[in-house]
Amino acid sequence: MTDRYAVIGHPISHSKSPLIHRMFAKQTGQDISYEAIEAPLDGFAATIERLRKEGYKGCNVTVPFKFEAFNRATDLSERARSAQAVNTLRFKNDLILGDNTDGAGLVRDIEHNQNFPLSGKRVLLMGAGGAAYGVALPLISSGASLTVSNRTHEKAVQLARHLQAHGVVEVLDVKASSVATPFDCIINATSVGLTDDLPELPEGVFHAGSLAYDMVYSRETKFMALAKSNGVKKIADGLGMLVEQAAEAFFIWRGVRPDTAPVLAALRG
Ligand code: NAP
Repeated sequence: MTDRYAVIGHPISHSKSPLIHRMFAKQTGQDISYEAIEAPLDGFAATIERLRKEGYKGCNVTVPFKFEAFNRATDLSERARSAQAVNTLRFKNDLILGDNTDGAGLVRDIEHNQNFPLSGKRVLLMGAGGAAYGVALPLISSGASLTVSNRTHEKAVQLARHLQAHGVVEVLDVKASSVATPFDCIINATSVGLTDDLPELPEGVFHAGSLAYDMVYSRETKFMALAKSNGVKKIADGLGMLVEQAAEAFFIWRGVRPDTAPVLAALRG
């Protein structure tokens, strides 16, 4: 019998997750279905309950429901607990198992697909929402020295405080006019790319050898254009992260790890 999965978000029409998981299923011979579901902003819990009643085995969760998914889960993985956000749910009898694969996906994409080792690098993480919480600890664990910034400054301070058990995390005020030392890797984990806006950034964060990484995927965002105009050569969108975090979710659900390279190549093609 076909096992059913889905991704839940609002909006969701942009999501490539159904395509990716169908390619994984075909490649690994797994009998699954995977669809995109747009839940009303106040309807995440009801949507989860419906899926469980209908026998779905799990789902991915995207903007803006990752904190709510964290609260709905009956059991949390260690990385979900540290992220305080959940992007992967597995339904098992009465249990709702919550995990977060964003950080593993980002680090794998940067280090493996972009060939940019993070150990010892100065990394600026822009944003303090679900995605930023999801990737912050894996970035620290990779050996990077982390600075966080966010439009609502207090949330960046909270994120740094949340991480203090794992090392010193600097906070950069986005309203500062400039920074003294540029960053090796600047990651846009805000949702501004979805609205084609530009997050505020002090002068001097980029240098020619930086990697500018936008978690938004499939087109050049204003953040990526800004990096280019500052002389940055290595610029990446979040498509590789999307595929890598999906592979990790697929592994959680199916116990099989798909080969991401052909899937990424097919999406880029
Ligand atoms: P979220 O929880 O809603 O957080 C949104 C973040 O964006 C907050 O830090 C918010 O700042 C900031 N923001 C929103 N509008 C802004 C603006 N106009 N200027 C500056 N900052 C702004 O969303 P999320 O789950 O963290 O997701 C963030 C992005 O990451 C989304 O675009 C999502 O598609 C992407 N993402 C990609 C992948 C991937 O696999 N490639 C995975 C996860 C997420 P405030 O706190 O000030 O509101």
